[in-house]
Amino acid sequence: MTGHIYFIGAGPGDPDLLTLKAQKLIAAADVVLYAGSLVNPAVLAHAPAHAEIHNSAGLSLEQQIEVMASAAAAGKAVARLHTGDPTIYGATLEQMRELDRLAIAYTVVPGVSSAFAATAALKTELTAPNQTQTIIFTRLGGRTAVPEAENLASLAAHRSSMVLFLSTGMIARVVKELTGAGYPADTPVAVVFRASWPDELVIRGTLATIAGQLEAAEITHQALIIVSPVLSAEGRQVADSHLYGAAFAPSARRDAPAIISLTRAGTGTARRLLAQLPGAVLYAPERFVTAADRAAGIIGYDTSVRQVLQSAFAEHSALICLMATGIVVRDLAPVLRSKHSDPAVVALDEQGRHAISLLSGHKGGANALAQQVAKALGGLAVLTTASDGQRLPALDLLGREAGWQLERPEQLTAVIAALVNGEAVAVYQNAGNDDWLPDPLPPNLTRYPSLAALAAAAPAAALFITDRIVPARLRAAAPKSAIYRPPSLVLGVGCNRGTPAAEILQNVRDALTAAGLSPLSVAAVATIEDKRDEIGLLEMCERQNWPLKIFSRAEIAAIENLPNPSEWAQKALGVAGVAEPAALLAANASELLLEKQKYPNVTVAVARKS
Ligand code: SAH
Repeated sequence: MTGHIYFIGAGPGDPDLLTLKAQKLIAAADVVLYAGSLVNPAVLAHAPAHAEIHNSAGLSLEQQIEVMASAAAAGKAVARLHTGDPTIYGATLEQMRELDRLAIAYTVVPGVSSAFAATAALKTELTAPNQTQTIIFTRLGGRTAVPEAENLASLAAHRSSMVLFLSTGMIARVVKELTGAGYPADTPVAVVFRASWPDELVIRGTLATIAGQLEAAEITHQALIIVSPVLSAEGRQVADSHLYGAAFAPSARRDAPAIISLTRAGTGTARRLLAQLPGAVLYAPERFVTAADRAAGIIGYDTSVRQVLQSAFAEHSALICLMATGIVVRDLAPVLRSKHSDPAVVALDEQGRHAISLLSGHKGGANALAQQVAKALGGLAVLTTASDGQRLPALDLLGREAGWQLERPEQLTAVIAALVNGEAVAVYQNAGNDDWLPDPLPPNLTRYPSLAALAAAAPAAALFITDRIVPARLRAAAPKSAIYRPPSLVLGVGCNRGTPAAEILQNVRDALTAAGLSPLSVAAVATIEDKRDEIGLLEMCERQNWPLKIFSRAEIAAIENLPNPSEWAQKALGVAGVAEPAALLAANASELLLEKQKYPNVTVAVARKS
């Protein structure tokens, strides 16, 4: 084992919780880097006498890489120790990126996470039948931000087991967010300080008491917070029902809108609407439901409208409520979670004059539904989301039907804010349909014909809609930027029998990189009928979620004037090539973006869909 770096999980503290593999690697290491006080010095005792030992706590990332890289260059073995398991909040990714850049080899060795040592200290299990089958590992945002979609309140909506790392110093915020998510004050919470160390401390309390208990014990770090139904009722019995029964929201919603009426006139309007919204379900007060209604599948209710609204909220992807907005707001307030998961809610007056998009306007589809309802009833849709009010395009909805992918979704919010706030937003688009661009363009939105022109304009924000790789230096021209990847590329692929999926994928990546194209824009892979059962090719497509298009020898042979005909293919398959004609056929294109690239076992060509 020379000239190699091992990222090793050093376990939660107890040196006996080191894996045998970790112990062996440390014993054979020339250089050991360990992550400060979280790694037990007893673990370091396995290192040989000659080993150089560094505490990474005092080193910058550059310095750490320098230590590792120079050791690896000198043919030494490096043991890079991380607390617990290195794959959870390990800050290993940035090190790996640097090592990749320097082409230095490394291996990752798992370890026992503190999450498991802490649960062991609690003598319980994080999953339990009838209680929860899911564990969420998370943290509060601090110096490292947590994506908005993962805020604690929305995660808490699952009522699953939750383990919070790096958050005891912010216990007051944890309590506030969980309380805000509907957890009662008497919800049990456990904190485990220094799990598996000799001075391990377990504190059990409730949401109401835990902050005070931590303050009294002076615990601010090196501890985990665990919230879970398994902690309730002495941690053994089925969770008590007021806590985890009524408040529990099923997450799979029916893909049909619920129409809910409250008055006689409203029920009349609802019947008209139902006739125009196939698949919708109408809930009406029992006393207004006729025999004909029942035969038509209309459901009568004699409970409170609040109950109907709340259960429809849990069960349907959209709600159309024929009643005052005040009723809807008050009755749904307790069950709201987040714009990322709540169903669309449209409120409608009983005559159907105004269809108000109330909740989940964009992602949940309430704006579109309000427009559909207004059209069906001859009324007016009322939209209040900022981008609609200013007649700006909703950047978070672009290319939804066409399958555009956002490269780094968290970056879009800043671009949307820039657009809504009137800052200069630049667009570069070379792929996908551009009919989303309003005509005329809003004054602060400008489209540029090239990446270079966009960079030269130095806008406040940039939106790239492209299958091209955007070089970092051009991207940096705008402080805020986001990239959409329309599925515009087709890969033509040929390969020798038995070539493994990983090799084909590597060559595909190489070819795309050579052409400056993004793998996120791959729409499909195309090949010849002889490769219909080529396992590596099928497996790659399956894993990457790329459809595979198969063309017959005759179809392939009909494509003439290939840039790079192959004698071998002519002899073996009776066609002039595979990769190039397959790409052209599947893309319905007349020229290639990338001519055939030849690798030892694989050929790749790329065309853009026309
Ligand atoms: N990779 C580590 C986590 C590193 S982040 C793992 O898998 O365990 C550091 C955080 O882990 C600390 O803020 C604390 O929340 C938690 N932690 C690490 N060691 C711990 C221990 N022995 N007991 C309790 N929490 C611990």
